Amino acid sequence: MEKQVRVRFAPSPTGALHIGGVRTALYNYLFARKNGGKMILRIEDTDQSRFVPGAEDYILEALKWCGIEIDEGIGAGGENGPYRQSERKGIYMEYAQQLVDEGKAYYAFDTPEDLNEMRERLKAARVASPQYNAITRMTMKNSLTLPEDEVKSRLASGEPYVIRLKVPRKEEIRLNDMIRGWVMVHSSAIDDKILMKSDGMPTYHLANIVDDHLMGISHVIRGEEWLPSAPLHVLLYKFLGWEDSMPRFAHLPLLLKPEGNGKLSKRDADKHGFPIFPLDWTDPKTGETSVGYREQGYIPEGFVNFLAFLGWNPGTHQEIFSMEELVEAFSVERIGKSGTKFDINKAQWFNQHYLRQKPNKELAEQFQKELKAQNIKCSDEKVVKIIGEMKERVTFSNDFWAEGKYFFVSPESYDEKVVKKKWNIEAVTALTAYKDALTNIENLNADLAKETLEKALAENNIKIGRVMQAVRLAITGVGAGPDLMNIIEIIGKEETINRIDKVVDRLSDRVKE
Ligand code: GLU
Repeated sequence: MEKQVRVRFAPSPTGALHIGGVRTALYNYLFARKNGGKMILRIEDTDQSRFVPGAEDYILEALKWCGIEIDEGIGAGGENGPYRQSERKGIYMEYAQQLVDEGKAYYAFDTPEDLNEMRERLKAARVASPQYNAITRMTMKNSLTLPEDEVKSRLASGEPYVIRLKVPRKEEIRLNDMIRGWVMVHSSAIDDKILMKSDGMPTYHLANIVDDHLMGISHVIRGEEWLPSAPLHVLLYKFLGWEDSMPRFAHLPLLLKPEGNGKLSKRDADKHGFPIFPLDWTDPKTGETSVGYREQGYIPEGFVNFLAFLGWNPGTHQEIFSMEELVEAFSVERIGKSGTKFDINKAQWFNQHYLRQKPNKELAEQFQKELKAQNIKCSDEKVVKIIGEMKERVTFSNDFWAEGKYFFVSPESYDEKVVKKKWNIEAVTALTAYKDALTNIENLNADLAKETLEKALAENNIKIGRVMQAVRLAITGVGAGPDLMNIIEIIGKEETINRIDKVVDRLSDRVKE
C-alpha cells in the first residue's frame, strides 16, 4: 500500500521567516493538499543559543496570512507530539544510545583545545580540510580509543562529552532526490558528526531524522541548503534501521539575487528596497524593524501566486492561480533544478492583478480605515467612486491615499515640472474663465464639467490641449491621474472653484508671458 503523504515544515525559531522559508512551507502545503496528505508544523529549537523570542508566533502568523493551513503540530495539535524539539529531549538520547550500543556511534571527550590541536596538526601535514573522521578519530579521546573502564569512569564523573556518528570510511551513499535525481556522495567526504551535544541536546541532524521517522513523514521538501546534509541523513536512517521507511527527498532550488548571482539575502533585499519577510519584524536584539510584504500592501493571494512561481511552473502560459488552482496544478516534477532569480516587479505585477480583481466596495471599506486615520470623513458612496477611478492606476492599496489624496484635500504644493512647463497667462485666463462659467452651473457632473470647460475655452480662443495640464495641476497639484472631469464631479463645484482661486493666487508670481 502507498504510504500516506505526510510532509512537514520544520523551521528553527531563530528570527523572522525568510521569504525562502515561506516558499518551502507553501510547496509542502501544496504537495500535501494535492496528494490528500497532511501538513505538519514542527519547531526545531534544539540550538538554544540561536533561539529568538517571538519567532514561533511570527511563523504561525505568517503562515496564516498566506493561507497555508497546518493539519498537525504547533498550533494544531496531534497524536505525534510534542512538536517542539526542545520538549522531546529524552526521545533523542534513547536513539543516540542505541547507536552507541550497536557500535555505530561513540562517546567523545575531546576538549576544544584537543580539537584545535588536531586541526593544526593536520594542517601542518597539508591536509586540506581537517576533519574528525574515520582516520583521525583513532588519535582522539573517545570511547573507541580509551579503555572501557576509563570511558565508564569519565561518564560517571559527569565529564562533558558528545556522541559522534561513526561514519564508515569507504562507502558510497546514494540518494534519489525527486528534483535532482540520483545524488552520490562518498562517505569519506562526511565527518563524524556530533549527534548529541554536551548540553544534552541533540544536534539538528539527529533530532530531524528521529522526528521525521516518529512522525511518519513520507516526503521531505526543503531548501537546497540542506542537500549537503542529506547523505548524512540517509546514513542515519540506515544505522537506525529505518531505511525501508525513509522519506523521499526533494531539495528546492535556491532563490537568487535579482542580478542572478548567488543566494538572495536580506542585504540584497534592503539594497533593492523590497521586503524579505512576509510580515513586519522587529529584531528583539537590535530593535531594528524590517517591513513585511503584508505591511507594504501586498495581497496574500498575489504573494502566494508569486511565491509558487519561484521555482515551479505549470508548463502552460497560465500565470494567475488561486490556492485551489495551485493545489490542482502542483507537482514536484515541475520544480526546476536551477536557482530562480528574484524579481520584485513580478510580485508587484501579481499584486496589481489581484487588487484589480477586488470589488470596489471591499477596497473602499479598507480605505475608509486609512481615511479615518487621516481624520477625513467621506461617504462610502464617494469612496467607492474614488476607488473606481484609482484602481487601474495603483499597485498597492496603500497607494490610494498616497496617489489620490487630492480627492479629499486641496493640494498644498504644485508639481514643479508642470508649473515650469505649463503655467502661463493662457493657463490663468483659461482657469479664470472656467471658474466664472462654473459659478452658474447647477448639478455639476463630469459631462457638464467638460462642456463648460470647452465652452469657456472656445470663448477665449484657447485650445484645450494647451491648458489641460494646467487645469489638472490646479485641481490635483500633479500632472497626471484619472479622468479630470470625473475628479471634478467627485470633489464638486465649490471645491473646484476654491482650488482654482487658490492656485491662481499661490502661483501669481510664477506666471510666464
Ligand atoms: N530546521 C531546519 C530549518 O530551519 C529544517 C531543515 C529541514 O527541513 O530538514 O530549515
